[in-house]
Amino acid sequence: MSKHVVICGGGVIGCATAYFLATSGAKVTVIESDGIASGASGAAAGILSPPSPDSIDDPLFEIRMTGFKLHQELAEKLPDESGVQYDYSVTPRVIVPNNEKEVSDLVNRLSNTGLNQSSTEILDANTLAKQTGWIDKARYGGAFLDAGAQVDPYKFTLALVAAAERLGVKFITGKVTGIELNRQSFQSVTVDHKTINGDACLLSMGPWAKDASPWVNRPIPVRPLKGQIIKTQPQKKLTHLTLLNGSNYAITRENGLLILGTTEEDVGFDTSITDTARDEIIAFGLTFSSELETAELIEQTACLRPLSGDGRPIMGELIPNSNLFISTGHGRQGILMSPAAGHAMSDLINTGETRLLDLSPFDPERFN
Ligand SMILES: Cc1cc2nc3c(=O)[nH]c(=O)nc-3n(C[C@H](O)[C@H](O)[C@H](O)COP(=O)(O)OP(=O)(O)OC[C@H]3O[C@@H](n4cnc5c(N)ncnc54)[C@H](O)[C@@H]3O)c2cc1C
Repeated sequence: MSKHVVICGGGVIGCATAYFLATSGAKVTVIESDGIASGASGAAAGILSPPSPDSIDDPLFEIRMTGFKLHQELAEKLPDESGVQYDYSVTPRVIVPNNEKEVSDLVNRLSNTGLNQSSTEILDANTLAKQTGWIDKARYGGAFLDAGAQVDPYKFTLALVAAAERLGVKFITGKVTGIELNRQSFQSVTVDHKTINGDACLLSMGPWAKDASPWVNRPIPVRPLKGQIIKTQPQKKLTHLTLLNGSNYAITRENGLLILGTTEEDVGFDTSITDTARDEIIAFGLTFSSELETAELIEQTACLRPLSGDGRPIMGELIPNSNLFISTGHGRQGILMSPAAGHAMSDLINTGETRLLDLSPFDPERFN
């Protein structure tokens, strides 16, 4: 008989795990307290950046690269499996330095690491303006990197849900308020005073995963890191690409919008939008493109990234041999990592191991 897995939290991480579990034949119930992808998963920028080749020693390299490749594979089949088009597109990337020092660092990285496999050239400001059409104010020019990709993150999560539903996954609206363990082994979750039994449970409640800490008497060091982005409508259709500048970005959508971000605000569970953030983001955009001078501001949003105590995801069995699992803390790149996280956690829940990724850097035990 197949395992019944209860998933707490219907963001991209919970829904990706539900999808992969369902494809492996498991019985799955997802419990979401608000709406599917109502947190960061629905409001992210949706940029899928492959990891830089010079970050190969970073413990996050493998999950990022695997996530990037699985997104390519999913784009071939998930729209048909789900009936949802989620606007996956390959997107050229341009990196723009802020000063001479960053230019020379970029020259070194391009020649030593193959950030762009076909070119090691930094384009001067005029050439960059001609080639992109809209990055026309980059004082120090810029360089093309190997292409990345993008999705509409809300539609992507809905596609995972629709495909999972077709495979029999049940989605329930309700707030999980407790977990029952019997001799350190998972029994059931409490949802709005009712009990749902299962053979295994996954906590994928994003920054709210910390709420489960007292239920299981374990540290779950994850906190919200607020980010704001703005959506603008430029006067003309811009060349399709992602502009990267430090931790800021601007990305064109197929529908003509230009999305810009972002902030990193350590302000708890506050999701209000602020004029200060709007002005900072617009000022960043204006440094690189005159198109922002006439673009219309369409929307400003704020949402919360789940950030762990050491910045690495928390993925694995929360208590050894308990069948209680956790997957959170994917920070600024949870959309990118979600297929890798979902696939690996599905393997782990089903068989106790995964060959997809080395999960040891993400072991929840490291906080004990
Ligand atoms: C401004 C911004 C831009 C971003 N851009 C990108 C990007 O371009 N590329 C990228 O890869 N990543 C990006 N991210 C990061 C990405 O959005 C997150 O890492 C990812 O969405 C986290 O997914 P999650 O499922 O863990 O959490 P969430 O999306 O927060 O989902 C958790 C869910 O759990 C539910 N929940 C909470 N408590 C309970 C409970 N007790 N019972 C039931 N349900 C519960 C919540 O309602 C929520 O829906 C961005 C984030 C921000 C803030």
